[in-house]
Amino acid sequence: MSNTKIIHSIPIDELTGAISVPIYQTSTFVQEAPGVNKGFDYARTNNPTRATLEKVIAQLEEGAVGVAFGSGLAAIDAVVKLLQSGDEILAVDDIYGGAFRLFTQVYEKFGVTVNYVDSTNAENVFNAITPNTKLIWIESPTNPTLKVSDIAAIAKIAKASGCLLCVDNTFASPVLQKPLSLGADIVIHSATKYLGGHSDLIAGLVVTKEQALGAKIKFLQNASGAILAPFDSWLVIRGIETLGLRVKQHCLNAQQVAEYLQTLPQVDNVFYPGLPTHPNHEIAKQQAKGFGGIISFTLKDDTEEAAIAFVTSTRLFKLAESLGGVKSLLCHPATMTHKSIPVEKRQAAGVADSLIRLSVGLEEAEDLIEDIAFAIKQTKVASFQNA
Ligand SMILES: *Cc1c(COP(=O)(O)O)cnc(C)c1O
Repeated sequence: MSNTKIIHSIPIDELTGAISVPIYQTSTFVQEAPGVNKGFDYARTNNPTRATLEKVIAQLEEGAVGVAFGSGLAAIDAVVKLLQSGDEILAVDDIYGGAFRLFTQVYEKFGVTVNYVDSTNAENVFNAITPNTKLIWIESPTNPTLKVSDIAAIAKIAKASGCLLCVDNTFASPVLQKPLSLGADIVIHSATKYLGGHSDLIAGLVVTKEQALGAKIKFLQNASGAILAPFDSWLVIRGIETLGLRVKQHCLNAQQVAEYLQTLPQVDNVFYPGLPTHPNHEIAKQQAKGFGGIISFTLKDDTEEAAIAFVTSTRLFKLAESLGGVKSLLCHPATMTHKSIPVEKRQAAGVADSLIRLSVGLEEAEDLIEDIAFAIKQTKVASFQNA
């Protein structure tokens, strides 16, 4: 999507001409008579600022309906609530830790079960479908090992099997990838990441391809109540204005950092879909306009100690969970974002003890590379001292 389209998907206020979307900080709306109103009655049900964001994200993802939630997990939660007891989810094995926790620790007790599959091979997905599978859940690229799945191929399988396909598009953003146009039924976002883009809010979005499915999500938003506040809706809208520019620069920086990491003797594997050595490079190139700002890598010294020495030695990359902001961040998934995943499952999904995830920000790439060079030297010293 062009910057022009992104920027002009955000409407001018019809009432006043305000170029910035007004923040309707109100809980209720005065009615002329019971049920006679201007399209708004109570702000959990609908709020004009949130409604604008919902229209914008639907346009960006080329879907029928957008629905905004108080977090990415609340968005995921709403999609799972489409299911019933006895239904199964088939999910990518390298799934976001919070989604794994929600599926297993909240929904299993209500009789919704989950099977995991390496969805980088669409045939695996086909083979793992059971008569009870109602929802296929993929992330592409995944978190944190940056696996890429063939969305169009999996969408065909989902359709043929009567399952919904939901794609967590957080890492790619609609600038790089449009899962609904590739055949998915639902897209979710943690708008906390690239859409917000400034590490200053928590928000989630759902977009459906079809109107009827969107109405069900909209019903769940009101019935369960995990709405996004007007001010945070406004912040996401403001973030979206620069999404195209930011994502482009994230991609340029990440490509340079990934190529540099590959030259380091202390580094073992570098996971970045933009590298020709990445096993899913071809499909990533085909279905997305760029490879994103997230890189992960392992150290030759595959110990937690070495990884922790690295992540505590950088000066520009700040140690924090989350990603997608203007400042570069890094984290150690095994002890941070993926701590709630059992160790065998975590390692089987490729989250090694020394795996480090970078969210490459918008600083100068050469400065980020210098920062990594410094930290890797410190890591060598630390692991030598431990030995
Ligand atoms: C962060 C994240 C989520 C959860 O979003 P929150 O806004 O933190 O609730 C879901 N999926 C992916 C891929 C994420 O990175």
